This record gives sequence, C-alpha cells and structure tokens, in this order.
Amino acid sequence: MTRDLHLNAVRPRAAQASRAALDSSAELASFTALTSTASLASSATPTSSTALASSAHESVRDAAATDRPTVWLVGAGPGDPDLLTLRAARALADADVVLCDDLVDRRVLELVRDGARVLHVGKRGGRASTDQAFIHRVMIREARRGQRVVRLKGGDPFVFGRGGEERDALQAAGIAVEVVPGLTSGIAAPAAIGISVTDRRHAAGVAFVTGHARKGGPGPDWQVLARSGLTLVIYMGVAHCGAIARQLQDAGLAATTAAAIIENGTRPDQRVVRTTLGKMARAIAATGIGSPAIMVIGDVARAADAAIRVTRSA
Ligand code: SAH
Repeated sequence: MTRDLHLNAVRPRAAQASRAALDSSAELASFTALTSTASLASSATPTSSTALASSAHESVRDAAATDRPTVWLVGAGPGDPDLLTLRAARALADADVVLCDDLVDRRVLELVRDGARVLHVGKRGGRASTDQAFIHRVMIREARRGQRVVRLKGGDPFVFGRGGEERDALQAAGIAVEVVPGLTSGIAAPAAIGISVTDRRHAAGVAFVTGHARKGGPGPDWQVLARSGLTLVIYMGVAHCGAIARQLQDAGLAATTAAAIIENGTRPDQRVVRTTLGKMARAIAATGIGSPAIMVIGDVARAADAAIRVTRSA
C-alpha cells in the first residue's frame, strides 16, 4: 500500500514560519513521522538490459560508492512517464528517499523501489507549499545519513524549478550534486501538438520566460520580447495572461499573432486552445484553462494541431 504524504497539505504557512525556530532533533522527529513508504515498484521498471541503461545505472551507483553524500536533482519530464530519461528512471529505482514536486505525474513514482520513502514537497501557486529552506535541510540531512536522495522535479530541474537554488544550498553544505536533465514542458507541450518552437521560416529563436515573476524581482521585459522576433514560450503565465497580452500589444506585437495554450501537456487530460494574442485572455477565460499550462506566442503556433500526439512507446 502506498502512503505518500503531502507536506504542503499538512504544514500550513504559519507552521512553516515557526519551523525555522525548531531545533534540529525536533525537526528530524517531525520529518520522520511524515515519511512514507513507496510500494509501487517493478511493473513499470524500465528496460535494464541495454548498455545505455546500465551505464546510467553505474553512474548513479558510482557516485554513491564514493561515500560522499550526494543528492540527485532529477527531471521528471512533462508528464507522460514515457518521456522520462533512462537515467532518471535509474535514479528513481536506486533512491532511498525521493522529495517530489507537485507537478510530477503520479505514474512516474511507480519507478520508485519498494521500501523507499516518498515525500511530497510540492509548490503550487495559491496553495500552502513546503518551505524551500525546509526542503534544503531535509535533503542535506538525509544525504549526510548516507541515504541516496533524489529531488524529483517536473520537466527539467534547471528550468524554472529552483534547481539552481537547491544546487547552491547543497554545495554550500558540502553535498555532491548530480543533475539528471529532463524534458522541459516548454518544449514538450508545444511538441505534443505539433509546434516546433524554433523554425527558421518563422522565428530566429525562442525565449523561455516566466509569466509570474518573483515578488520584488525582475520580470520579463515584455517590450524587448515583443520586438525580438523570437517565439515566446511562457511558463506560469495563465493567471496573468490578460496583463501579458496587453503589454505585448502595447509594445507593438500584432493582435493577430498566433498563440496556443497547452494545459497538462503530454498527459491524458491535455487540453489545447488555439487563438491569437488579441483574443488569448478571453479564450483562456472561456475554456477555464488553468495551471499547469504553457503559452506559446508567435508564428510557429499556427501549426498547432490538437490531433498530433507525441509518440508513445505503448
Ligand atoms: N521545471 C519545469 C517547470 C516548472 S515551473 C519544466 O521544465 O517544465 C511550472 C510551470 O511549468 C507550470 O506553471 C506550467 O507553466 C509549466 N508546466 C509544467 N508541466 C506542464 C505540462 N505538463 N503542461 C503544460 N505546462 C506545464
């Protein structure tokens, strides 16, 4: 039986704030009480006989064999478990502890071995989420205890995933970091409906930007982006689509510019809206499209075809 636990659900914000004041033994006891055992193993275990898979496997084992505490920052891909890398699958099969983000598809966790602990430390806009410093502390502590720790993140760990912050915190604590890149949703979700984010006939390149800037931090320069001629791939933008569309148009991007929004890209519940920049906000409101969604703005979005699916192996 799987008893995955959601740290974000059981730890409201006030509790997180006071958490920093706890001494480390109390924190560890509390953390231990919140751990769970993964029991969904074997059936979805990936091919182990190929040379590629076994070399990836070795790399995980090798790092552990050095005895240096190590954390693997692993990209879980956009959703469909078939889009996971072999190395990610191996890291999951080898892990003792998996700290898992909200966006990770449940089916990916079937690769975690029986007996390993899965901690849900998700972050979702508008909901109570696990304190980032707490995640750092748990990773550091478990790695120092000799546990093989996997930090599992949706898409790629270094694309809007705080992977850089986690790498810095781990390295500052003397923990070795292994990165397993993943397929980012900004490429995979458009591809799932036939959009090639670069296409030399339409765009000289692509800009991956956040639609939800950090409080007090710099947001994307929409004026510059509007004039750039690049395909715009916007993460975390649906809640702010009206303001984004307005700023891009104010900066000169035509209202007729093609736009596509992909919700739950590559998952069975994927939904797509094909529209234009001028109509985008109304279209999103009318369909109720919400997070997680990728917005693609630019001529390449004209190719959007909901009938195209990424190839599945089964
Ligand atoms: N590291 C992740 C991005 C995390 S930021 C990656 O590389 O994909 C979270 C945002 O990613 C969401 O708000 C949404 O914009 C996007 N996202 C993640 N998975 C998605 C999916 N399956 N379909 C559409 N958008 C997705």
